[in-house]
Amino acid sequence: MAPIRVAIVGLGKIARDQHLGAIEATDGIELVAVASRHAKLDDIACFHEIGDLLASDVKFDAVSLCTPPVGRFEQAKAALDAGKHVMLEKPPGATLSEVYALEKLAKAKGVSLFSTWHSRAAAAVEPARALLAKRKIRSVAVEWKEDVRHWHPGQAWIWEPGGLGVFDPGINALSIVTRILPESFHLTRSELTFPANRAAPIAASLSFETDSGVPVSAEFDWRQTGPQTWDIRAETDEGPIVLTHGGSRLFVDGKSAIVEEDREYRNLYRDFVTLVAESRSDADFSPLVHVADAFMLGRRIQTDVFED
Ligand code: NAP
Repeated sequence: MAPIRVAIVGLGKIARDQHLGAIEATDGIELVAVASRHAKLDDIACFHEIGDLLASDVKFDAVSLCTPPVGRFEQAKAALDAGKHVMLEKPPGATLSEVYALEKLAKAKGVSLFSTWHSRAAAAVEPARALLAKRKIRSVAVEWKEDVRHWHPGQAWIWEPGGLGVFDPGINALSIVTRILPESFHLTRSELTFPANRAAPIAASLSFETDSGVPVSAEFDWRQTGPQTWDIRAETDEGPIVLTHGGSRLFVDGKSAIVEEDREYRNLYRDFVTLVAESRSDADFSPLVHVADAFMLGRRIQTDVFED
């Protein structure tokens, strides 16, 4: 099969940090264009925005949307309407209704929609899922604490409505938990801490319960300096199963079982190539459902103003 000719839309931090290198390293896909209002690449067709790209004579098969979630719907819709396969950065959109509309449109157009969850592509996630399927789980605790100034320097959109605030990283944890637990779960308590000058939370404290009543807690905080914490700990009848470093390391019953270098985005592009080849979509929006619930049930707590 000829390689998929992909265009990146939104040449910002994640596109440069991960997507460019992952496309380069993946068989079956090649970068042919970029659409970004303030950024360009040498030796690649560059456009101001997706409408200009779609109106051009550049031949391409797919777009990878690396823009912020608010505004991504219009870009994805335009690409799907034009018969292009679409890969969405996480979170897949700003609202639930828009992402379900995209899923429907992709189906109607007969193209692939890939709603990516890069943390699910981390090395320890599938092994943890297999282990948890065989054990009795007593409780699950998520701790996802990082320094917003380091990971999102100067990003204004992330503090606006739809930017998700601390759920921008927190949804990564939820994407792992929704994958590794053998049963579904629902939110029972949500406390959201908002800086006095911001429209999105800087911290969240959540409680969930699985279908059989297993408690799941999650603490998200964007104010952690120094070492960063991206841990998920499941207590089971046979001992703890712990994912650390965002899902790239696994400890089983206190012993290190997996330590792997980061391959998340290479895994995502490999999966995208497979989805397109098999004319399939992968659109699981369950992490975004839990985030929406956290806002619906959230008790608002105000804290100090936040300045970059
Ligand atoms: P970013 O650095 O702000 O880059 C996004 C790019 O999208 C911008 O450079 C901008 O390029 C374009 N854009 C189009 N419309 C925009 C708008 N209304 N406001 C701001 N930018 C707009 O953001 P990012 O960190 O790459 O995040 C993009 C997506 O990747 C988010 O969904 C995020 O959750 C996800 N992600 C980020 C990270 C990370 O570590 N930062 C990690 C994993 C996933 P032009 O101005 O040139 O059009």
